[in-house]
Amino acid sequence: MILPAPPSPILLLDLAAEHAALQPTLNDAMQEVLDSAAFIQGPAVGQFAAELGAHLGGVHVVPCANGTDALTLALMSLELPAGAEVITPAFTYVATLEAAALMGLRPVLVDVLPDTFNIDPAAVEAAITPRTGAIVAVHLFGQCADLEALRAISQRHGVALIEDNAQALGATFQMPNGETAFAGAVGEVGTTSFFPSKNLGCLGDGGALLTREAARAALLQQLANHGQSQKYHHQRIGLNSRLDTLQAALLRVKLRQLPHNTAARQAVAARYDDALDGVAGVVIPARDPRSTHVFHQYTIQVTDSGRRDDLQHFLKSCGVPTMIYYPLPVHAQPAYAYLGYRAGQFPVAEQLCQSVLSLPIHPLLAVAQQEYVVHILTQALA
Ligand SMILES: *Cc1c(COP(=O)(O)O)cnc(C)c1O
Repeated sequence: MILPAPPSPILLLDLAAEHAALQPTLNDAMQEVLDSAAFIQGPAVGQFAAELGAHLGGVHVVPCANGTDALTLALMSLELPAGAEVITPAFTYVATLEAAALMGLRPVLVDVLPDTFNIDPAAVEAAITPRTGAIVAVHLFGQCADLEALRAISQRHGVALIEDNAQALGATFQMPNGETAFAGAVGEVGTTSFFPSKNLGCLGDGGALLTREAARAALLQQLANHGQSQKYHHQRIGLNSRLDTLQAALLRVKLRQLPHNTAARQAVAARYDDALDGVAGVVIPARDPRSTHVFHQYTIQVTDSGRRDDLQHFLKSCGVPTMIYYPLPVHAQPAYAYLGYRAGQFPVAEQLCQSVLSLPIHPLLAVAQQEYVVHILTQALA
């Protein structure tokens, strides 16, 4: 088979190009912080928090150092007893449960749904015990987990809901009362990450907590800053977990670009849907009609999962980079062997680890590049 060369190098993410377009504004923002020398808790931190909160329907935003700390702080704010159980999906990035494990809480894994990859609410409810302290749901790849069912379960059992929203910032969900809720603003606390590759990324590490409750926002603020109410007065044992002023200043610039970038990602996803729907050998990502999808990833399933790795290598040899999020379910990670789960206990998560493949998707992916990706992929599957 004779294949054309890619129109221009195809990247999974093109941050250099994204930043080049914003260069003068990013430079100004950096220069302003350099001039002020207010590197910790400078004015840009509060300004960014207010702007992001307004962007997400008026939620309180508490910035912190990264998305993993955000999960830790969210759990700290619940003041759970040692050993309390925290229900999380078996198919996620490890940080989702790392925070719970580090705090001496017990991660309880449940399986995910085969179509949306998100946590299975029926499995969550079945896993609730008198020791359950929290449910940590993940809005994987940019689409909301079933917030309707999860909120109902959380309320029915009096168990807090934490939303790990590192991948779905700006996604919305149609709640049964007709209200449109923002991902991360439904549970007691939402967490997010500004790791550079996320939909809203800074130029280093960063994260934030989202909550609708003013009192909880104040508590989270305190916990993120050494548990202090005022300087040198410590009410609680906290963390040193702050967003740098420099990152906040850069994020203010990048936040203005987020709606445009999200729309661009959605346009790429729509073109993949059109081109790949019904193509034998792959399944396109399912859409929950109640949720918008901000396409942090565009993740297909390779029906004959035994061919997935060969397909990935072939695509790579043709200049099409792809990624496997995630190659191992959480219970197969050596670090979590102590939880005592066995292979076969979370069949959907295990199957997805064998079959998923995330295709290039970013705001600057050109139509010609995408056509090339589709061409190579369909040739390989034919
Ligand atoms: C990226 C990510 C995190 C962790 O964020 P960091 O800022 O890297 O600590 C947590 N959960 C999920 C689902 C993520 O994708």
